[in-house]
Amino acid sequence: MWLLKKLPFEKNSLEPIISEKTIDFHYGKHHQTYVNKLNDLTKEKPELNSLILEDLIKKSANNDELKAIFNNAAQVFNHDFFWQSLSPEKKEISSKLLAKIEEDFTSLENFKEEFIQSALAQFGSGWAWLVKNKENKLGIIKTANADNPLSKDLTPLFAIDVWEHAYYLDYQNKRAEFVEAILDNLVNWDFVEKNLEK
Ligand code: MN
Repeated sequence: MWLLKKLPFEKNSLEPIISEKTIDFHYGKHHQTYVNKLNDLTKEKPELNSLILEDLIKKSANNDELKAIFNNAAQVFNHDFFWQSLSPEKKEISSKLLAKIEEDFTSLENFKEEFIQSALAQFGSGWAWLVKNKENKLGIIKTANADNPLSKDLTPLFAIDVWEHAYYLDYQNKRAEFVEAILDNLVNWDFVEKNLEK
């Protein structure tokens, strides 16, 4: 039985960057629906519903027969990960994490610019991610629809949902403004650093 994880912040606490109304729909409807569908799809499949979510995603990735299960499992993971990537209190980036970002992206500003460009380059629904590879090098990737770094053997550090449902109520078609506002105000750098150390 897959559960909708509790939000790590109050629904109105990301305002004015992300409205309570957006969180109501995004968490209460979209995210909840992925959880419900995943439970329906795996109900009679103990070999799948006994796995932890990350393993179910890796097992169902790139498998046509398990495509619907992959889509819903990945979207449950992606949304949990997105909420954890956000902080209502402005977090300071540690000097250690800043040094790592400067090593791999030259500067924090450059990282933000590359992240925005990647989010914009995702045609249609998807996600923008900060990831690290097996050599511990940071990178930015975009993924379409439900796809995520786990299916590519990369470790996710931070994510922004760029499906229209994530920003349309607050920003209409202005995806770049939504992404930039998050990068400037809501990044949970403690979460990023915790993932870097995994
Ligand atoms: Mn979403």
